[in-house]
Amino acid sequence: RHPHPERRPAVVTGASSGIGAATALTLAAAGHPVALGARRVERCEEVAAQVRAVGGEAVAHALDVTDADSVAAFAAAVARDLGDVEVLVSNAGAVAPGVTHEVETERFARELDLAVTGAHRLVRAFVPAMVERRRGDVVFVSSDVAVRARPFMAAYTAGKWGLEGMVQAMQMELEGTGVRASVVRPGPTWSEMGTDWSDEAAGEVLTQWVRFGHARHPHFLKPAAIADAIATVVGARRGVHLNLVEVTPEAPV
Ligand code: NDP
Repeated sequence: RHPHPERRPAVVTGASSGIGAATALTLAAAGHPVALGARRVERCEEVAAQVRAVGGEAVAHALDVTDADSVAAFAAAVARDLGDVEVLVSNAGAVAPGVTHEVETERFARELDLAVTGAHRLVRAFVPAMVERRRGDVVFVSSDVAVRARPFMAAYTAGKWGLEGMVQAMQMELEGTGVRASVVRPGPTWSEMGTDWSDEAAGEVLTQWVRFGHARHPHFLKPAAIADAIATVVGARRGVHLNLVEVTPEAPV
């Protein structure tokens, strides 16, 4: 564990797997006390135990970002355990494939709620105190779909477009407050995302992606690569704001 000159408690949402779990480990290794949240709290607890095993500070609490009461209970537990939160990584996300005109509107609305309003619930819970203390970093995990729509993922695409729009507005509002809001925009990353899709749905989606040129790039990123980008944004020196970091896989040399 690297010594860190300041104690900067960090919250990571969607920390039970993939990018969120990797981010919690990476931030902890950089010296941040970390609070992990997701619905599968037992998986968060396993990651927290890994952090503690190497001398880091980590706590895990159940969190459903689509549920205001859950967010409030999570924020209260984190404040009790770690004190003032200085870093928020809003990473929780999920995607269900479907043909837009066939998807039930209720499901469409739930996907938007997870991607956009879910992030806003965390903003409400943690950013006012950051502004008051005049310091903080908020990193929102977006996706390359935010600049290139992906068929059969209209709600997910709309959600990430909406999320990046919210962050752009916040960046202007937060100017001069000492709080930096940033976007990290990962390309294709190995994680548990999509592992819950039926073989039929996955096969159809992949076939169509090839047709529309979305599956040309055979290279995938590891979650640790996105975690490194997030840690770089959070660790940027004062006076510097890494507004947007797009992470793409490098082709083998
Ligand atoms: P994973 O499926 O591995 O992780 C998603 C995480 O989000 C899980 O920890 C899950 O935990 C959590 N989550 C889902 N719904 C909720 C909820 N309602 N409340 C709280 N937590 C929730 O996928 P990734 O690591 O790939 O995804 C992380 C982020 O990265 C997402 O925002 C995704 O959109 C983005 N991304 C991923 C890419 C990829 O190719 N994998 C590419 C670009 C962006 P639990 O189920 O326990 O609640």
